[in-house]
Amino acid sequence: MSTLFTKIINREVPSDIVYEDDFVVGFRDINPQAPVHIVIATRAEITGVAAVEESGDQQHLIYAARKIAENEGLEKGYRLVINQGEDGGQTFDHLHMHLLGGRKLSWPPG
Ligand code: AMP
Repeated sequence: MSTLFTKIINREVPSDIVYEDDFVVGFRDINPQAPVHIVIATRAEITGVAAVEESGDQQHLIYAARKIAENEGLEKGYRLVINQGEDGGQTFDHLHMHLLGGRKLSWPPG
């Protein structure tokens, strides 16, 4: 059974897709935590950072984030977050990076 993010990528579940390439797809988070909040998911169903290998599609996430940040006009900066596992706050077992921006982000995160 495919993950929610695969269903979004395949247009089986509606979402606001803002970026696509051969490896990853970016779409607006349904519950945004900043004025710009985009989820960038791998097309491959990699379960998370814990399953990342030495090379592969996941290496494309940061490049895609940079391109999306440029498209979104985030010249003042932004944050990239990957939640891993229960303590990391991961809720979907499909590798994805959060791109957050459009406001001053506090540190450290909760
Ligand atoms: P994580 O908690 O790191 O696994 O992130 C999952 C993210 O997916 C959360 O920020 C959710 O708000 C977001 N999300 C869940 N369902 C959808 C959806 N249908 N469309 C867009 N974003 C979603």
